[in-house]
Amino acid sequence: MQLKILGGGQLGRMITLAGYPLGVRTTVLDPATDPCAGQVCPHIVGEYEDYRALYELAQSCDAVTFEFENVPVASARWLAERVPVFPPPQALEVSQDRLIEKSFLRDLGVPVPPFAAVETRADFDAALQSIGLPAVLKTRRFGYDGKGQYVLRSPADAETAWVALGGRPLILEGFVPFDREVSLICVRGREGSTAFYPLTENEHREGMLYRSLAPVTDTAEELTERAQEYALRILDALQYVGVLAIEWFQDGGQLLANEMAPRVHNSGHWTIEGAVTSQFENHVRAVLGLPLGSTEPRGYSAMFNLIGHHPPIPQLLALPAAKLHSYGKGPRPRRKIGHVTFVEPTAAQRDQHAAEFAQLLG
Ligand code: AMP
Repeated sequence: MQLKILGGGQLGRMITLAGYPLGVRTTVLDPATDPCAGQVCPHIVGEYEDYRALYELAQSCDAVTFEFENVPVASARWLAERVPVFPPPQALEVSQDRLIEKSFLRDLGVPVPPFAAVETRADFDAALQSIGLPAVLKTRRFGYDGKGQYVLRSPADAETAWVALGGRPLILEGFVPFDREVSLICVRGREGSTAFYPLTENEHREGMLYRSLAPVTDTAEELTERAQEYALRILDALQYVGVLAIEWFQDGGQLLANEMAPRVHNSGHWTIEGAVTSQFENHVRAVLGLPLGSTEPRGYSAMFNLIGHHPPIPQLLALPAAKLHSYGKGPRPRRKIGHVTFVEPTAAQRDQHAAEFAQLLG
């Protein structure tokens, strides 16, 4: 079978690698001349709005998917008139704009932090009045890894935040004093079957994912059930197909949705070794209309991102339990260039390895 992917980064690369054992061949479209997925599958060089490139991508194809949520919706819709495109383009539309996304979630009864739309300085002042401090001002579109946002702690921060971000469509959110951040990776097949990976605990540093632990321990079963129940509402509302990631703030027994990503997700990388079927394989299965695989964990996993640069590969491989994924990308500050996963039979062993590895990373 042939799967075509918009985007040739590490997610496209790992989708491709997951497709190999199933006999699935992939091709990626990416404007870069040397994207890292291009090292493992054919690569068409082209912009995402280049209809000639999109036409070429759509040839001999069982399905088209994407590895990032900022794919132009018009391109996804154009492709969907010709070939099956999953996840559905509507999921892109919702997740590309934080205001549309938060409104969509709220209308489904999924709890979200308080929020208000901000276009003008007058809107901003009114939003600060209604939401109060602390709060987070964010761009509605194209924010990722903590970019395009400003945390306001005192009234004096308003001016600086406005100078930094004003003039673009914005959203002001109440700052959630969360105990921790968790994510739920879900998958829905073409026939509507669904499966969920266990909740994953995520630690961010400087706005970027640093470490994921799964399954979360010391969490009430009820919290997982609630997250899954909210996720089902989202999956059904979008008639979703493929892997969907939902990020949550856990505040005591409460879950508030932060954002969703209509794609495989960094906080699901542990599933490659840590679950019976990885998120990448289940995404391939779902979008091609194949039966979903088991999402059962194989143990207790810890996943660390390698950001910017990493210790020499022999040093990483000297840790017998470490499973290294190097993406074939050069070092650059704040660039995700690989990850390392540990899977252990107990949470205590996992935590010990994680602590040792954190020290090695420094
Ligand atoms: P985002 O790009 O919206 O996922 O935000 C990046 C990170 O900023 C999140 O993972 C949180 O650690 C933090 N953050 C974002 N929004 C809020 C909020 N409303 N309250 C508290 N922390 C937030």
